[in-house]
Amino acid sequence: MDLGISGKKAIVCAASKGLGKACAISLAREGVDVTICARTPGPLEATAEEIRALDGGGVTAIPCDITTDEGRDKILEQCANPDILINNAGGPPPGDFRNWDRDAWIKAIDANMLTPIFLIKVTVDWMMERKFGRVINITSSAVKAPNELLGLSNGARAGLTGFIAGIARKTVANNVTINAVLPGAFDTDRLRSNFKHVAEKTGKSVDEVATARAAENPAKRLGQAYEFGELCAFLCSDQAGFITGQNILIDGGNYPGTL
Ligand code: NAD
Repeated sequence: MDLGISGKKAIVCAASKGLGKACAISLAREGVDVTICARTPGPLEATAEEIRALDGGGVTAIPCDITTDEGRDKILEQCANPDILINNAGGPPPGDFRNWDRDAWIKAIDANMLTPIFLIKVTVDWMMERKFGRVINITSSAVKAPNELLGLSNGARAGLTGFIAGIARKTVANNVTINAVLPGAFDTDRLRSNFKHVAEKTGKSVDEVATARAAENPAKRLGQAYEFGELCAFLCSDQAGFITGQNILIDGGNYPGTL
């Protein structure tokens, strides 16, 4: 299927690894010019090289911390008027809520709620003027089924989800859609670091925790990042203009509800 987005411009945040990287690859394969960022230049440039080798859309790599004003300014300087915005940042650490002080909460809210809101704020009007825009927020299956250990994530992402529910119904009249994609367990560095936390608490090895987690999933495996990237690319397609304000789970069927 031709997604009809060749030649469009995308900002893909936090994209040197994992789900952000997979989204950048899937979009670039469709001919989208992607501007990617991450804090550490080495892995970011390696990902940019990988994308260049695909012979799809162009790629520009901007080393920056997307959760800061300076970081967002840097990426917007390179790509001021994106047609597509993929909001992503590292997830907050797991832990016990008794140990989280105000700083821990502000950091989580900055990364997983305010950063996407600020990026939408400065890009959405241009998208509406142009009558095309696709915004995807990478959130978490924890938005639907909270995990006790991920309280910082549950709280900050719930705030983002509520905000989006309001504006996504306004922008769509101008063919600008805003949706969230909610990953379940995907085999990325982030998930491995969560497994490490569980391994330390239970005395098991990280591999044992990973195997057990995969076995619990109805698909009997963890998700692969490319599966996430392809869903994201479809939601950014020309054909997806009637989908907005949705929170789309991609979790191998792990969420047990009917709806
Ligand atoms: P990952 O650790 O594999 O990759 C994260 C990427 O973000 C890296 O490229 C890293 O350099 C970049 N990054 C982190 N903080 C940044 C910042 N402040 N500025 C710029 N770049 C930054 O993680 P992932 O598994 O791809 O997760 C992506 C998001 O999805 C996270 O918010 C995570 O909590 C969430 N999530 C992941 C899973 C999963 O199973 N992998 C499940 C639920 C939610």
